[in-house]
This record gives sequence, structure tokens and C-alpha cells, in this order.
Amino acid sequence: MALHRLAPLAAICALTLSAALTAPAQAQVQAHSTATQQRAAEPYCATHKCIALTFDDGPAEYTNDLLKVLKKYKAKATFFLIGNRVQKHPKLAQNIVKGGHEVGNHTWSHKYLTDLEYKAIYSEVKKGQDIIKKTTGKTPVLFRAPGGLINDGVRTIIAKFGMYQIPGTVATQDYIKDYRDVEFLTGRALDIAGQDEVVLMHETVKQTAQSMSEVLKELTAQGYSFVTVSKLLEGQELVPGESYPEQLPLSGD
Ligand SMILES: [Zn+2]
Repeated sequence: MALHRLAPLAAICALTLSAALTAPAQAQVQAHSTATQQRAAEPYCATHKCIALTFDDGPAEYTNDLLKVLKKYKAKATFFLIGNRVQKHPKLAQNIVKGGHEVGNHTWSHKYLTDLEYKAIYSEVKKGQDIIKKTTGKTPVLFRAPGGLINDGVRTIIAKFGMYQIPGTVATQDYIKDYRDVEFLTGRALDIAGQDEVVLMHETVKQTAQSMSEVLKELTAQGYSFVTVSKLLEGQELVPGESYPEQLPLSGD
């Protein structure tokens, strides 16, 4: 399959990162302990080439394979889970958290929220939140709307839960059937990868899970640190209900 070189959907990332500070000489470190403490508190991604890989729609049958390859490359990722799938596969959801990854809320049953009344949207979000919390012990602070579809009602509800919207900044578009080829999706992922990008993929797509070994190998060689979305956003002032990183909306599924 020919590899189309598509430009990242959002080339500009609005993350404001402070410039890396040069390492001072040992004597200076001792002389200026206050400055050293400030440097230690600097967000990890201000001084590292970070990328946040995200996997939607699970837990799914490829979750454990994915966790295995992420572990091999010491990569942390963010999984946007569907509530009724967490109910069906509690062990897989727990394995994700045990692996040190972040879990986000992707609603209870993956309905397009903009088709629903306020009360039904609230229920989709709350049921998703409750089952993730009950199953994994973690309360998600990240939310991703199915299809990336949001409106003011969604925004208000997400804010009530103290969550932030994470639509992603680039996508392999593995939801397109014709793209479901390991080599092609590997090329796509490497193509759209960039510093501080939030990459949207699906753990329900076998070829995505199979592509990760090569993708992680190559991106590791390029010096990337694979971090959770919360780690990527560290140091930013976040407003509940708003979308991060700030950028053009990305449609996904
Ligand atoms: Zn989805």
C-alpha cells in the first residue's frame, strides 16, 4: 500500500514550555539552592522530547499485547476507556493501571453526545466515570468525547466532573478500514509523531496494536519520551471543561 505523506492535523502546539536551563557548575548549585529547587520543579516535558500516545475504545482483546510492548519500551500511555467495556473486562482495565498508564473517560456506551439531551449526556459521562473509579480505583481527570463531538452541554458537564477534554492533536485514522494494514499504520504513526503531540489511536484495532513494536522502536531511537497526557500537560493552568492541548479540533471516533 502506498504511504501517503499527510501533514499533521495540528502542526502548531500551543503548549507553552519554558526553555531548558543550562546545567550549572556544582559550586553554583550549592551556592544557589533556591534556583536548583525551582529547576527541579520544572515540568518533565519542558526538558524532554515528549509525546503522548492515546488508545481509545477499550479495554479490548489486544489490550494485554499492547501493554506488553509498551512495557518493553518503558512507554507510558493514556487509555480512553468505554464504561460498558470496563464492566465486561475489569481485569484488563486493572492491568492498564498496574502498568502505570493513565485512564480517561470515553463515556459509558460511546454514543455521540451531540445527539443526546443534557440528562442523557450526564448519564453517559457519570456511568463511565463511576465504573472506571470502581474498577481501577482511579478517578479520571481526562475526557474524550466519542467522535470528538462536543457542545456547550458536554463542556458544562465535563467541567462539573472537574475533567479536561483531550481530543488529541494528530490521529493515525485507524478507524478507516482501508488504513488497517500494519505497515501502513506504522508509517502513519511515524509520520504524524512530533514533540508534544497527543496521538489518537484505537486499541480495538489489531493492526494498531501490531504496529506499536516498530513505532516505539523507531520513536525511541528518535529520542522521544512516551508520557501520559497528564504528564504532558504538567505545568499548564488547566480549566475544567476546556480542551487541551489548545489547538484546532480533531475529528476521531
Ligand atoms: Zn471512540
